[in-house]
Amino acid sequence: MLIRNAEIWRGATQDVRTVGNRVAAIGKLQRETDEPVLEADGCALLPGLHDHHIHLAATSAAMQSVDCGPPHVNNAGELAIALAQTGTGWLRGTAYHESVAGVLTRKQIDAWQCDRPVRVQHRSGRMWFFNSAALALLRDCPDIPAGIDFDTGQAFEIDDWLRGALSSRPPDLRALSRTLAAHGMTGVTEISPSNSHAEAQWLGREIEQGNLRQHCVLAGRLDLSDRMLPRGIALGPLKLHLHEHQLPDFELVVDRISAAHRLARPVAVHCTTEVELVFTLAALAEAGTLAGDRIEHAGIASDALIEQMAALRLIVVSQPHFIAERGDQYREAIPPSEHSLLYRLRSFIGAGVPLAAGSDAPYGSTNPWTAMSAACSRRTRNGHMIGAKEALSPEQALSLYLRDPLNLTVERQIAVSGPADLCLLDRPWAAARADLSAVAVRATLFDGSLVYDRVDQPPVQRRSGADAAA
Ligand SMILES: [Zn+2]
Repeated sequence: MLIRNAEIWRGATQDVRTVGNRVAAIGKLQRETDEPVLEADGCALLPGLHDHHIHLAATSAAMQSVDCGPPHVNNAGELAIALAQTGTGWLRGTAYHESVAGVLTRKQIDAWQCDRPVRVQHRSGRMWFFNSAALALLRDCPDIPAGIDFDTGQAFEIDDWLRGALSSRPPDLRALSRTLAAHGMTGVTEISPSNSHAEAQWLGREIEQGNLRQHCVLAGRLDLSDRMLPRGIALGPLKLHLHEHQLPDFELVVDRISAAHRLARPVAVHCTTEVELVFTLAALAEAGTLAGDRIEHAGIASDALIEQMAALRLIVVSQPHFIAERGDQYREAIPPSEHSLLYRLRSFIGAGVPLAAGSDAPYGSTNPWTAMSAACSRRTRNGHMIGAKEALSPEQALSLYLRDPLNLTVERQIAVSGPADLCLLDRPWAAARADLSAVAVRATLFDGSLVYDRVDQPPVQRRSGADAAA
């Protein structure tokens, strides 16, 4: 394919030719016989974006679920309307937050929906709320875990069991992959801590069937190994999930980090709170660090902790959109003295800590453009500013999604013989940077194939038009 007159990221406005899954030439190029042409009209051409932290199965499931949290659902009345859906079979709610109607109970949900079995997932992904019809079904399942309370309908950390109990098949990723492609995404890092060879095989099948059209880095358990991964999947870090109210044994964590490092595998540790971060930094200092070790979220980080992270040569994978999506709740739940420590960005870069970003979908939006916009504005949905000093430039914000997923210290570029994973915007960069939230993607190329093409310009018409002009 010939992409004509494209403003190449960090380069000049030129033509780009792709052959197979590679960029074959950049410069002033003549169209070859029968070569398809994409007229870029001077719009920005970027390396394909990469979501460095996503949960694919849960996001795909959430796309088929009822949204039960802010900003769509903000109070008990709105939740009642959301759940009062007729139909048959399970009704699955997601993204619930207790600011809507407190910690839900079986009886509460029964009042809104008693015909269908209902399960509502808390935004954290760790808690479920069931109605009586749901509990009646689950009661008959084998190996009922301690985390489920049949009286209140509340359940904590029962996901693995629930999956088996509902014998839910892993979802088809086609719709999610399309959504990601429409945002310009050509790669994802799937980072659920439970990822094992079963998930690797499932993702391999999704790639083979053409449902998943993004490169995939698979983080997860220690027993994942390079040799056993299907084609199209690269091995990511060992994912460790910590929770401050129930921290694991310190020596155990040090041992697991060391075990990963012995396999030349970095670790990615979930740290949303300051306690989790302090614990993790101590464990990493004890085990020693490996290039590529990363902190996921770094939701609260003091200057002293950022200094430690820099000294340990750690990388941070942040969610800049949480300031927009959750900022108004943070302002109520977190003491004002800590607001400036929330999801910091510029301070990490300033301290020499490499920074990348991921959606954490389904717990955040998959749209990187609104996330970049939040990284620059630091504004909540209601317009409040959080941590103004942490604001990034539009170029810095975009760079969070252009990092090499296997070496987050490096920003990928468009180069001859590099991958033909490309994202063409609907405007030049000078216009895009003025309002990132308004940016639309015109076309996305994955492995040299057009996986997203904005419908207002049918490719056939565009190509014949190009011929006429040539
Ligand atoms: Zn996550």
